[in-house]
Amino acid sequence: MVWGMRVLLVEDERRLAELVKSGLADEGFAVDIACDGTEGLWMATENSYDAIVLDVMLPRLNGYAVCRRLREAGNWTPIMMLTAKDGEYDEAEALDTGADDFLSKPFSYVVLLARLRALVRRGGRERPVSLTVGDLTIDPAGMRCRRAGTEVSLTPKEFAVLHALARRAGEVVSKADLLAQAWDFAYDGDPSIVEVYISALRRKIDAPFGRSSLVTVRGAGYRLDGHR
Ligand code: CA
Repeated sequence: MVWGMRVLLVEDERRLAELVKSGLADEGFAVDIACDGTEGLWMATENSYDAIVLDVMLPRLNGYAVCRRLREAGNWTPIMMLTAKDGEYDEAEALDTGADDFLSKPFSYVVLLARLRALVRRGGRERPVSLTVGDLTIDPAGMRCRRAGTEVSLTPKEFAVLHALARRAGEVVSKADLLAQAWDFAYDGDPSIVEVYISALRRKIDAPFGRSSLVTVRGAGYRLDGHR
């Protein structure tokens, strides 16, 4: 039993929502249900939850948008996304939203419970202190990035990749390490997704400032330099 844990379930399929709610209630979770994305976003913003179970396909505002907006607002409540079917959603977009875990429908209730417990125990993403690499400042708590005092807008996943590199500034970080650190759920897709994010980061933190701080080390990985 997990007493005192409060979960928000955002799911428009009433029967499924009620089933999951009663199952979780038996385990000691207090569960609120939101029936569409807009209501879910509002409830997640107004209340404090230990975890959010968020369906992707929702009326009014889809699960990706809800997740992204919460992260952009600095809300780090652990989020488990319920995806309709493998391959039916845009994987890059899903990875980009800042969710902590994913579960494909139809799912086993036992698996949902186990993963939810693990998510609550983990307590969301880590919120370490600001990092400085040359004139680049990275503030993970506010998910903000500045280059020479200028605010640079990054998506949650771009931010996660940059943060992983900044934590080991001046060192080569392998693609596998970046995947492990920035995709903290079990990601078994194409590791070349990392390259997509590296290119996006270069367009944002380097090119406009005439820098080349994000270095590709062929066959080894990537390095973030403070002086380039
Ligand atoms: Ca749905």
